[in-house]
Amino acid sequence: MDAESLKSLAWLVVWGGLFYVMMRYGCGAHMMGHGRHRDAGAAAGGSGKDPACGMMVDPEHAKAAAVRDGKTYYFCSDACRNKFEQEPAKFIKTGSQEAHHA
Ligand SMILES: [Zn+2]
Repeated sequence: MDAESLKSLAWLVVWGGLFYVMMRYGCGAHMMGHGRHRDAGAAAGGSGKDPACGMMVDPEHAKAAAVRDGKTYYFCSDACRNKFEQEPAKFIKTGSQEAHHA
């Protein structure tokens, strides 16, 4: 009878661990981080952050702009835009990196 209760205890630990990992890295993490983040990105059609240097740029007063994949990017200077134009993939992030901050 002792072996029996040990077995069920072991199962509890295994399932507990699985659940923890799932919440932490799987579906749970998705539910916590995803929806809100995507909204912010979609709504930011006109707002500006210079992807080259990372500083916020007022679209109305941006020194330079570039359109990539239907999205407009604003830059604090022509130099930043040139950097971006040369290697856009380097500056356009998919968002997975920022998700950790949420
Ligand atoms: Zn810049």
